[in-house]
Amino acid sequence: MNEPILTIVVPCFNEEEVLPETIKQLLNLLERLENQSLVSKHSKLLFVDDGSTDQTWKIIYQTGLNDRRIKGIKLSRNSGHQSALLAGLFSAKSQSDCVVSIDADLQDDIDVIRDFILKFREGYEVVLGVRNERKTDTFFKKHTAQGFYKIMKKLGVNIVYNHADFRLLSKRAIEELERFNEINLFLRGIVPLIGFQTTKVFYDRKERLAGETKYPLKKMVSFAIDGVTSFSVTPIRFVSLIGFASFFVSLMFGVYFLLLKFSGNTTTGWTSLITSIWLIGGLQLIAVGLIGEYIGKIYKETKQRPRYIVEIDTYNLGFRNKVESNDDTSLFSFTKG
Ligand code: UDP
Ligand code: MG
Repeated sequence: MNEPILTIVVPCFNEEEVLPETIKQLLNLLERLENQSLVSKHSKLLFVDDGSTDQTWKIIYQTGLNDRRIKGIKLSRNSGHQSALLAGLFSAKSQSDCVVSIDADLQDDIDVIRDFILKFREGYEVVLGVRNERKTDTFFKKHTAQGFYKIMKKLGVNIVYNHADFRLLSKRAIEELERFNEINLFLRGIVPLIGFQTTKVFYDRKERLAGETKYPLKKMVSFAIDGVTSFSVTPIRFVSLIGFASFFVSLMFGVYFLLLKFSGNTTTGWTSLITSIWLIGGLQLIAVGLIGEYIGKIYKETKQRPRYIVEIDTYNLGFRNKVESNDDTSLFSFTKG
């Protein structure tokens, strides 16, 4: 087998603190893989700047000037981790046989990428990195994340437990991924739908190298809701079930109240009345909100807006020719915000 061309895609959002170290470590890894003849000499690193407001793009761009293996895509604004990842994958596939995606903070063990490549060379087209145990996450993050996986499973969404977005995809797998046109793309749920020969590689997840998590609670909750509603209509069914249940319960209560009335035992009944008004009102609001969640999804999908907009792509354009000769400062437009 010829050595496959590997591109490592790294989404970055305000990662200036960690990026120089990340670049160093990944370059080092690439060199080792090349020396072991596991990947081609044309393998590259592709950093996707997801609309950072710090020096992230500058770092990517400038290191790219000195090293042909470092490429960058600058998105026009912050589009979110999943979209940044997609931008990277779709750009990278044109010049790669396989693409590995990894977070910029290197919480995932980069040495595992070697195992990914070995699996790829055995013929696997999708290799998923699966965390052994969440030793380094905070108590809160660990339990919310575990709860999320469990709920997803209960709702019939087929996602791999403890697998984040650390994975290898073959060129063909990415081409198929591109045919999933949904705007609300939840990669972890989509990847199992691509099919092909799939395997897992286990590893330990580490602490963030530097900087802070870009997934505060608010983003995590919205990510979780997105994940569920993109893949499952079980919540809607659940609401209908509650509707039916309360209908039958109120029927029984009706009979009971009539019996009370005819036996002359009627009470003032204010408590039960007010309770049921609030209860039913609450249930209705939940139901409407939930259905609204899905309608919102449909609304977003029908508009077919682009998932991300690329401002600069040094991966696919004739980067060296265009840039090296002049000091085109427009490539530094990160200052414009
Ligand atoms: N990220 C991104 N866009 C965003 C938020 C995050 O590209 O809007 C990137 C971030 O730079 C990192 C990866 O997504 O490379 C995962 O983020 P983070 O490590 O903060 O999440 P956590 O590991 O805490 O879940
Ligand atoms: Mg992280």
